[in-house]
Amino acid sequence: MKDASLLNNPKLSISYPDPLNKSDLMLVHTEDYIEKVQNMSNSGGMLSIDTPIQAKTYDIAKLSAGGAVLAGKMILENKVSNSFGLIRPPGHHAGRNYGGGFCYFNNVALLVEYLRKHFGLKRFMIMDWDVHHGNGTQDIFYEDPTVLYFSTHQMPLYPGTGYIEEIGKGEGKGYTVNLPLPAGTSGNNYEIIFDDLFFPLAKEFKPEIILVSAGQDAHSSDPIANLQFTNNNYIKMTERIMQVAESICKSRLAMVLEGGYNLTALSETISSIISTMVEMNQLNISESFSLKEVIVDKEIESRIEQLKIILKDYWKAFQ
Ligand SMILES: [Zn+2]
Repeated sequence: MKDASLLNNPKLSISYPDPLNKSDLMLVHTEDYIEKVQNMSNSGGMLSIDTPIQAKTYDIAKLSAGGAVLAGKMILENKVSNSFGLIRPPGHHAGRNYGGGFCYFNNVALLVEYLRKHFGLKRFMIMDWDVHHGNGTQDIFYEDPTVLYFSTHQMPLYPGTGYIEEIGKGEGKGYTVNLPLPAGTSGNNYEIIFDDLFFPLAKEFKPEIILVSAGQDAHSSDPIANLQFTNNNYIKMTERIMQVAESICKSRLAMVLEGGYNLTALSETISSIISTMVEMNQLNISESFSLKEVIVDKEIESRIEQLKIILKDYWKAFQ
């Protein structure tokens, strides 16, 4: 982190995780899959075409999952009201028995199941603002009405899932919400995404904690995607989600890092998000990548309207 004044702020505390143990990994993943990752870490190999396994992969992936869990645990133990799990590898492309897209274990799903088991929480809302669709997280909770999964993502793009019509299955129908964004979409659109979708859903669902799959690869400079988000957009998005958490769930908000592949931009956005979370946003953090102001576009407004129609049978807010 570049901003030393942030690290010195008395409101910010830094904690270091332990690796998540195998029985907790099994709250989400199958034993066969966990053993596959473990065994491949001894021999080396490829979990999928873009996801290599090396000698330390199993240990580091368990440590990353432990970081996500710690982010939630500290909130439930009343040590902090919000937290950011500064972890890698990411997790949202990992399902119960598969990995991919640089993901081995699903950190945010493990956080959900850990809080359910150890703290008795019953309702969780996940905001996934990573530029890629969190197919693993969606799969894990697709039939689960206790986890409201909300994703915005560029489409078309890896992994190719996250269509507006994918809204869950069985008892989980209506509890998966996907808003695909076309290439070039500005982060300024997030204002109406909060106003028209996220906040009304949160108000009605009443999660006990809000979790964010916080990948900042929608940033305009990201080398593997094509959205137009700025550092200031991430500050605003953090402020908005903090307001939602304050009004709905006692400010309980845990973020975990997912993607973000321009490391300069990533360090700026993470510093900005954490600064905002400790209410230091007045520091006026620099923006290395400026963009001209873009207004909310009609295409996004019409997709939001379409989504409300698709979801109206499940949510009073959209009737
Ligand atoms: Zn991503």
